[in-house]
Amino acid sequence: MDCIFCKIVRGEAPAWKVYEDDKFVVILDKYPASFGHLLVVPKSHYVNVVDAPLDVATRGFEIAAKLAKAWAELGAKGVNIVTNAGREAGQVVFHFHIHVIPRWGGSLVWHGRDEIKESEAREVVEKLSKVLPKYFGRPIY
Ligand SMILES: [Zn+2]
Repeated sequence: MDCIFCKIVRGEAPAWKVYEDDKFVVILDKYPASFGHLLVVPKSHYVNVVDAPLDVATRGFEIAAKLAKAWAELGAKGVNIVTNAGREAGQVVFHFHIHVIPRWGGSLVWHGRDEIKESEAREVVEKLSKVLPKYFGRPIY
C-alpha cells in the first residue's frame, strides 16, 4: 500500500521519531506549523478518527495529551491538539494521525510552508528526550 505513514512505520521512509511503542509512533511533522509540531500515528492503518476503533483513538489522544504536557513543561505558551477526518475537514494524509502543535506566541499558523531543517529537528528531539520519560515511563529515542 502506498501510504506514507505505513512506510514510516515499516522503516521504509524517513522520519524524526520522538516516541514509539507497540501500537504508536510519534514523529515530527515534515512541514511544521510551529517549532515542535508532532504527529501521533497508529502503526495500524486506519483512515482517520472516524474509521479507527475507539480504543485506538483513545490511546492516540492519551499520547497527545502527554505530549502537550511535555511541551508546556518545556515552556510552550499554548498547545493545539487536532485531528482532521475527511477531505472536507482538511485531511491530507489518509492514515489516522493527531497533530500536537505547541504555540510560542505570534500568529496562528496551521500549515508550515517549509520542510523542517535537520538542525531544528535535532533540537526538538533533544528537548523532548529530557522530559518524555517522565510521561511515558521509559525513554524512547
Ligand atoms: Zn497507512
